[in-house]
Parts: sequence; C-alpha cells; structure tokens
Amino acid sequence: MNWWVSMPKVELHAHLNGSIRNSTLLELARELGEKGTIVFSDFEHVIRKNDRSLREVFKLFDLIHIVTTDHKTITRITKEVVEDFAAENVVYLELRTTPKRNDSIGMNKRSYMEAVVEGLRSVNSLEINFSSYDVEKCSGTNEKKIFVRLLLSIDRRESTQAAMETVNLALEMRDVGVVGIDLSGNPTIGEWATFFPALKFAREQGLEVTLHCGEVPNSVEIQSMLDFLPGRIGHACCFQDEEWKKLKLSKIPVEICLTSNIRTESISSMDVHHFAELYKASHPIVLCTDDSGVFSTNLSNEYALVSSTFGLGRMELFELARKAVDFIYAGEGVKMELIKVFESAARTLK
Ligand code: 5GP
Repeated sequence: MNWWVSMPKVELHAHLNGSIRNSTLLELARELGEKGTIVFSDFEHVIRKNDRSLREVFKLFDLIHIVTTDHKTITRITKEVVEDFAAENVVYLELRTTPKRNDSIGMNKRSYMEAVVEGLRSVNSLEINFSSYDVEKCSGTNEKKIFVRLLLSIDRRESTQAAMETVNLALEMRDVGVVGIDLSGNPTIGEWATFFPALKFAREQGLEVTLHCGEVPNSVEIQSMLDFLPGRIGHACCFQDEEWKKLKLSKIPVEICLTSNIRTESISSMDVHHFAELYKASHPIVLCTDDSGVFSTNLSNEYALVSSTFGLGRMELFELARKAVDFIYAGEGVKMELIKVFESAARTLK
C-alpha cells in the first residue's frame, strides 16, 4: 500500500454531498434520467471526468442537489463517505453538511440530519464511534476504526432565522456527535451581519465554529471573521498583508484544501499556494479534501501533493497529520485515543 494511504490521517473539512462517490452519482443520475427528472446525457460527461473546470464543478453541485433530496439517498451517501475515508486510514473525520428542507417529500432540517445519523449507524464494515458520550466503545480492539463528528453548515443564502434554526438543531443533536457549526456556500452571497447572531449564539451555547473565510477578496468580511476568533477557518485564499498579520497573531488554525483551491481558481497554481508560507511560519494548519468527489481527490492525495510540490519528507508529513489532532472539535477522550493511534503508527515509521 502506498505510504500516504497507510499513514493515519485526520480530516476536518469535508462536505458530505461534495464527497459523494462518482459511481453513486452516476447511478443516481441515471435513475433520475430514466424518470425524466434530468437529461442524463447533459451530466454524464461531467460525472465521468476527473479534471473538471470551475463551470463543470458548479454544474456537478447542481446535479448533486437534485439527486440528494431524499432521506434514503442521504443515508446511503453518508455511509459510503465514511467508508471511503476509513479505507484510506482516516482515523478521525469531521463531516459537515447543510441541513435541508424539501417540503414536497416531507423533509425538514431535522429529518435530513436524522438520515445522516442513520447513515453513520448503518456503517458495519468497520468500528465507528460518533456518539459524543461513548469514547470507550471505540478502544481496545484491533479492528479498523474511525471517529466521526458532525458539523452543521449554515448556507450563506440563509436568513438569520434559518441560521438560528440550524444552530438550535445542532444543540439538540449533540448526543449523536454534532460538535459545531460551519458557515459555507457561495462566498459572493450574503452578509456577515446576517450570520453573526446565530454564530455568536452557537458559541455561547458551547458549540465550536468554523468559517469559510477569504475564498474571494472581501477585506471587511475577512477582518470581521478573524475578530470573531472562530475555532478554525477554511481556505484563507484571498488575504491581504493586514489580514495575514491578523491571522498569524490569532493562531487560528487553517483548513487547507489544495486541490479545491486550484480547481475553483482561488489560487493560480500549487507552487504559490499559501500552504508554504503558513507552514514556514509554523502556523496551525491541517490538510483537508473539501469535496473529494467533486474535486476527484482524497486525503492521501493531498498529502502526496504537499510532498511533491513543497518537498516535505515522510517525517514532516507524519507530524503534519499528527498535529491535526490538536485542532479537532471532539473532546479530550477522543484526543487521547488519537494520540495513541499516532504513537503506535510512529513506532512503525522508525
Ligand atoms: P452539503 O452541505 O450539501 O453536504 O455539501 C455541499 C455544499 O457545501 C455546497 O452546496 C456548498 O454550499 C458547500 N460547499 C462545498 N464546497 C464548498 C467550497 O469550496 N466553498 C464554499 N463556500 N462552500 C462549499
């Protein structure tokens, strides 16, 4: 097995529906085509492609939203996504998703999330721990295991009220592994002031918060987000000098999504990616996939990319993966378990 694959890894920025398997998307799209809901041939080419353009990426997100509107499909995708991450030795996964409503089939934000949790429950090919109060269950055996925690995403198209509804749902679902809130969706839409009350409330209630920050140039919003001091931020692509200074002083960990940033053209090429600067400055960073299905990547590949682009060796990459444990949103019990996993892997590395 390739070394990047066998190394234990921690994934902290993965959107559920963006991580859908190509084969599943193809199958679901074909079914919708047969029902006449979509014209299958319009999408087939884009699904089968690996190096999609920005336009094709958004076309794929549109399709994903059409195929992921029922509970059964959400459950299936969740199960498969967890299995796929576990297959490449991701030992801790924070999966984020936007709770959705679809009145025509009786779906509300709660039932959507219950379908996600059902997906976690239905994983039986490996030992999975997602209950916030149940660390022990996942220790002491030699089987393949994975810790999974959930983040509920607020979509930037949502109102303050809708965002608050998501936060309240997250609070109600803490016992099934929900640990925090994410702000995501089209970065050119919506105002920070709209989401701020819900994010503030989330934090006051003890939920963790991560923000998609600086995907497009917007100094005012980036400064406001950094002033909020979220537990982590994702991307940080379009920062000015002043914002880099603020970020570095704050020590807010950054979820780095290399392939995603290149595909969405937020960064022009890998060699000028801010990974290098943040790594050199010993700023807290964690490598992530963002949307492994849509961007045709996986976490092992992101580590391999860092190695080939920035020349990091095995030991440095292992330390990068191990350091990510410091930034997880699960409790101390899970951290201790993960420290043990990495200690054991370090022994085989020497
Ligand atoms: P879901 O929340 O439906 O499980 O995952 C897909 C959704 O995550 C997308 O519709 C979008 O709202 C959000 N998302 C996925 N990738 C990105 C990204 O790179 N940037 C932003 N801002 N949002 C994203």
